Amino acid sequence: MVKCTGKSVLKGIAVGRLYVYRKKEFTLVKTHVDDVEGELKRFDLAVNEAERQLETLYQEALESVGEAEAKIFEVHGMMLEDEGYLEDIKDIIKNNCNAEYAVKEVGDNYSQMFAAMDNEYMRARSVDILDISNKVINILAGVGDDSIKSDEPVILLADDLTPSETISMDKDKVLAFVTIHGSANSHTAILARSLNLPSLVGTDVALLDEYHGQMAIVDGFQEELIINPLDDVLKELTERREAWISETESLRKLIGQDNVTTDGRKINVYCNIGGVEDVGRVLESDGGGIGLFRSEFLYLGRDSAPTEEEQFESYKAVLEKMNGKKVIIRTLDIGADKKADYLGLDPEENPALGYRAIRICLNQPDIFRTQLRAIYRASAYGTAAIMFPMIISVEEIRKIKGIVEEVKRELASEDIPMGDVELGIMIETPAAAVISDELAKEVEFFSIGTNDLTQYTLAIDRQNQKLESICDTHHPAILKLIQMTIENGHKENAWVGICGELASDTSLTKTFVDMGVDELSVSPTYVLGLRKAIREI
Ligand code: PEP
Ligand code: MG
Repeated sequence: MVKCTGKSVLKGIAVGRLYVYRKKEFTLVKTHVDDVEGELKRFDLAVNEAERQLETLYQEALESVGEAEAKIFEVHGMMLEDEGYLEDIKDIIKNNCNAEYAVKEVGDNYSQMFAAMDNEYMRARSVDILDISNKVINILAGVGDDSIKSDEPVILLADDLTPSETISMDKDKVLAFVTIHGSANSHTAILARSLNLPSLVGTDVALLDEYHGQMAIVDGFQEELIINPLDDVLKELTERREAWISETESLRKLIGQDNVTTDGRKINVYCNIGGVEDVGRVLESDGGGIGLFRSEFLYLGRDSAPTEEEQFESYKAVLEKMNGKKVIIRTLDIGADKKADYLGLDPEENPALGYRAIRICLNQPDIFRTQLRAIYRASAYGTAAIMFPMIISVEEIRKIKGIVEEVKRELASEDIPMGDVELGIMIETPAAAVISDELAKEVEFFSIGTNDLTQYTLAIDRQNQKLESICDTHHPAILKLIQMTIENGHKENAWVGICGELASDTSLTKTFVDMGVDELSVSPTYVLGLRKAIREI
């Protein structure tokens, strides 16, 4: 029996035979071509064929996993149309180089550029660049798609998997994915999650031929791959797997049901999103609204800030898709770990305690006004609310409200329609929790950001892995601050939600409900589990 550990993408269990998946390889060499025009034409045809294949993959994904996850193939199609990328390849071909080599060279360069970015999400995109480049190279070289040659469903063991490899696979033949490389934020991981396949990425396993066909277990709860399990281990895990399946199935019965306790208290269960592409998952999991739209994701991985128009389109798309359900847009929370070079922020000794979020917005009001104009313009298309991050004082809220009023007046003078927009703040600094009695007089709601509230209350950097073992997220100091915030909010008729990761911790659901929480906002995956926990109170 061999045990390997990885990073779990979905908490589930799969039992089956291993299938060692190797990509069909061919030797890519640089060759001299005389007929440059002919080579450029061959390249254009390959790009057209890749676009056609991506469209087919998009349609297949749309049917099997839904719009949100299918989107990646639309994005790949857009990447393939990127003029910079295409021109860089053509420039190399024009120097009498074969198209395969030119695509590889440019694909590798772009991929390395993404891999070097600070933002984890953007880093994960480097694999998408390789994916589209390989697709074009395979078409040019006449290499066909790899398929799983097995009569029974298998646990796929691979070095890494690209989104198109994942989606092109015959899903009836896959029980789980285990990859040696890959991040939990990659689209492959997202796809695995939406296909409900227990999977591990970054696993410390070798791609040995001798593993092919061996019995194995993927335990997404313990984050383990067990190869050749002992009989008693196999028996135990098989039983746990059956329990997990029946639990997941029974959860789907809760779609359309209320989040209501046995004594009739209703709690709003909303979702956290990072962009338009996440809304499909919110709707599929029956989320009641969006409790946290991390708008800063619109600002990351680009050379300049998104324009008012770009932001307006994104907010409008989310509001329209949510069809009247509440969408709480958090204004720009950039700084600390989320960096955008074009803002020219100086390196800091303690970035988590530094120039970030509302501090930037109040100091650089042009950025703030652009975002507020975009949100208010979009507010005519649904039920929008706005919340402000990292608040520490009443003065900040007064300044914010002053700017909001100016923006509204400006839009009204331009005859731009606007909806009613609730204004709230995040309670994520101990200062805000402690003066929540005063802050509550200024706003319509509070949303408690337990991720930062924990970091600042316990003085534990949330990025520091070494401190994970002492980071007690149930620390009485945090629970007291949450309770105090809820009570103070209610005294002034402000509703109070929680949007940090603690909101999905079902061991605390009863505690939060007893404290009087009105809303819990979680990743779409957790909506139904949370609904179940609420309905059992
Ligand atoms: C939080 O701090 O709990 C929160 C929800 O915001 P973020 O995780 O984006 O800092
Ligand atoms: Mg926060």
